[in-house]
Amino acid sequence: MKYIGAHVSASGGVEFAPVNAHGIGANAFALFTKNQRQWVSKPLTDESIRLFKENCRQYGFQPEFILPHDSYLINLGHPEEEALEKSRAAFVDEMQRCEELGLKLLNFHPGSHLNKISVENCLDRIAESINLALEKTTGVTAVIENTAGQGSNLGNEFWQLKYIIERVNDQSRIGVCLDTCHTFTSGYDFLTDYARVFDEFEQVVGFQYLKGMHLNDSKKELGSRVDRHDSIGKGLIGSEFFEKLMKDPRFNEMPLILETPDDTQWAKEIAWLRSVE
Ligand SMILES: [Zn+2]
Ligand SMILES: [Zn+2]
Repeated sequence: MKYIGAHVSASGGVEFAPVNAHGIGANAFALFTKNQRQWVSKPLTDESIRLFKENCRQYGFQPEFILPHDSYLINLGHPEEEALEKSRAAFVDEMQRCEELGLKLLNFHPGSHLNKISVENCLDRIAESINLALEKTTGVTAVIENTAGQGSNLGNEFWQLKYIIERVNDQSRIGVCLDTCHTFTSGYDFLTDYARVFDEFEQVVGFQYLKGMHLNDSKKELGSRVDRHDSIGKGLIGSEFFEKLMKDPRFNEMPLILETPDDTQWAKEIAWLRSVE
């Protein structure tokens, strides 16, 4: 079965996210559990946690199909000690918020070397950051999102995802989320050869680590390393690819999340994805 939703608003409180997801006909969703552009947010209140769980129950959202996303400020591979510590502390806070909400997954962007350290050094730091966070929490899997490789962002090549996974001590709590826009603009040509790209993913990383997908079309070309999402079928990826994905059982039983720019289209996009399943 396919679990499809969008990264919905949690403005007013996390408890509104499942309500918003229900409103667009989703059976999965993503959210920020704190303001994604601030370092510090107020702790979740008991009332907010209670209502979040109640609303998830009421609308039938199971924790396995909810994919919270961490703050954009966090860089788990930061080359400088002080900034790295700040990111690590914020990431633990994000993991703990997921724990409090009874969630099982936390999606994050791996990190950036900022042209100050080598790729391997940065990936080592990211793995160590994950280990530290996993030690301090229970029950939440850290889900690395592949990136477009914009600037010095890492995680744009499959081997880098595997490199991090190999260095994580508790491999039962590490996973990957593939963003279709990022996969395409980082240079994986699944339009020409769908089978080869996902075979390569299977060989390098392994589908057992795939915990979710972000479904986005792309405004930018294959290999451009620029991250600009577009609505499904409106960009350079096109609807045929998403039709294949919806028919592919390897993407069953995981959250498939739209991060497309026009939220007024989400209900339609979900309905279309369902229609080609
Ligand atoms: Zn992301
Ligand atoms: Zn994404």
